Amino acid sequence: MPANKKLLMLPGDGIGPEVMNQVRRVIDWMDKARHVSFDIDEDLVGGAAYDAHGTSLTDETLADAMGVDAVLLGAVGGPKWDNVERDKRPEAGLLALRKERELFANLRPATVFPALAEASSLKTELVAGLDMLIIRELTGGVYFGQPRGIEDIGGGEKRAIDTQVYTSSEIDRICRLAFDMARKRDNRVMSVEKANVMETGVLWREVATAAHADGYDDVELSHMYADNCAMQLVRAPKQFDVIVPDNLFGDILSDCAAMLTGSLGMLPSASLGAPDESGRRKAMYEPVHGTAPDIAGQDKANPLAMILSYAMCLRYSFDMEEGAEMVEAAAKTVLDNGLRTGDIMQPGMTLVSCQQMGEAVTVELDKLAG
Ligand code: NAD
Repeated sequence: MPANKKLLMLPGDGIGPEVMNQVRRVIDWMDKARHVSFDIDEDLVGGAAYDAHGTSLTDETLADAMGVDAVLLGAVGGPKWDNVERDKRPEAGLLALRKERELFANLRPATVFPALAEASSLKTELVAGLDMLIIRELTGGVYFGQPRGIEDIGGGEKRAIDTQVYTSSEIDRICRLAFDMARKRDNRVMSVEKANVMETGVLWREVATAAHADGYDDVELSHMYADNCAMQLVRAPKQFDVIVPDNLFGDILSDCAAMLTGSLGMLPSASLGAPDESGRRKAMYEPVHGTAPDIAGQDKANPLAMILSYAMCLRYSFDMEEGAEMVEAAAKTVLDNGLRTGDIMQPGMTLVSCQQMGEAVTVELDKLAG
């Protein structure tokens, strides 16, 4: 059995703790089945941390996050903290966890489970079997570029400025990561920008091409303008394997791809940093959804996005492809068996609670382990 690995669990607010409890169940199953053991710490983040400590992320929690192999995060925020000062709001803790640990790549798979293909807003044949990965640049671009601000320019007029800025090394590292990830999949990368109208797009294409030529000849690299990519995502999404856009385009394209899959409650994500000397990357795994205040505390949340985020953790932080595939297969079988939480409920299926869904996943894991 592999040596213990360090995990920090930050369940957060709303349905965060409910879905995290179901990951605990899966982790306990893996521990008992002797697949892997983790040293697990659990701490507060977001509104829960604000209530206890007056800040959404304490220095101690951040220090712990810096020292672990991976962070599993539920979700943060909710109406209760809407009027808290900006720098102490739940979201500030989340942003600090990403920024301080330099998690520059956001991986968002868009996978359509056969049992849920009909839940997509697109025709079933367009999305059945969809399996793509969007790797969004997360720490650069227009969300962080300077100068930015809103200024009075006289005569009752104002001017707002945002700056889209990228360095070649920022582009190079995200493209190389995309090529590395593609090698574990269908080996195809679509680099996305607007080189026709943006200087950052010109540099993006140039650096992506150079990085590709430097050791990634085996990976197929293509280029597409971001507006065309948006169209292609809803026209023929199965043409894509890995898509690598900048921060702004990635934000929009990944939400668009997410909706192809039908439900927020099914979508996992990973955020990765640069590899250290041992090749290990700092990482955080979290569902795409938020804290769902409308159903929090009612045992109604779909825990599969959180459980699938844990599968990504096994794959990307611990190189446990087999374990990741087992968890994903268990989730697929549970859906094939007709179990549904409220968000993905369909006629003729069996409505289950968050806890029942988590339990069903471990029952399937039992069967898979034979
Ligand atoms: P949300 O994702 O929390 O909810 C949107 C809708 O989807 C709701 O109707 C909710 O019930 C449903 N939903 C979401 N996840 C579900 C699940 N696992 N199972 C079943 N149904 C699910 O988005 P929102 O309502 O815009 O935001 C609510 C709060 O969450 C806000 O405070 C927001 O800031 C925060 N938020 C946090 C994160 C994060 O922590 N990463 C992300 C998005 C929103």
